[in-house]
Amino acid sequence: MSIIDNLLALQNHDAIIRSLQQQINDIPVRIEQEKHLETRAHEDLIRVTDQLASIQTQLDELLVRQSDTIAAIDSMNADIEVAVASRIAALEEAVGYKKRDLITIESNIAHAKENLALAEQARTNSQKKYADATANVKAYIENINKKTEEVQAKLSVAEEERKALVEVFQSPIEKRYLAYYERFSKRRWPVIAHISSNSVCEGCHMALPQAKQQAVRKAEGIVTCDYCGRIVY
Ligand SMILES: [Zn+2]
Repeated sequence: MSIIDNLLALQNHDAIIRSLQQQINDIPVRIEQEKHLETRAHEDLIRVTDQLASIQTQLDELLVRQSDTIAAIDSMNADIEVAVASRIAALEEAVGYKKRDLITIESNIAHAKENLALAEQARTNSQKKYADATANVKAYIENINKKTEEVQAKLSVAEEERKALVEVFQSPIEKRYLAYYERFSKRRWPVIAHISSNSVCEGCHMALPQAKQQAVRKAEGIVTCDYCGRIVY
């Protein structure tokens, strides 16, 4: 065997040894690699576990909110029932009042209709009385106008006849007496009054001096009352 062959044999053998040593040296690295995979898997586990916990928390919160919301809806529904019952009771009471009002109003309407009928009858009666009164007044006025015309005619005749009675007064003294009479008659009536036997003027009922009575007896011109101015006789 040559030296080269020996060296080559040695080298071949060393190659086997190096390969084996290399395999032994690689084991910790592989272990580290495997451990790293485990660590990553553990980290994944923690992350997913955290996610699960987070979702669980969200779900728990949602369940609490669901429960609270259902309770609130139930409470509100109960309130609605109470409110509806209360409102119905109030409305029914109000309707009761209105029905009683309606009964009173209808009673009053019936009463008013009766009164209306009575009032219409009364108006019919009044209209008839008014028509009668109008006719009566018209007849009365026509009658009184006729009478007035008659009286006016009589007055004209009397005034005409008076001229003859006035014409009797001719002398100045007679005309003076007539003037006194005419003047006095415009203020008082009658102008001429009787004097009683005990000398009382019957125009004013005052007692005159006895001389007046004597003057009247003597018939000396006209004698007048000292108190009222009437011509006494
Ligand atoms: Zn007199």
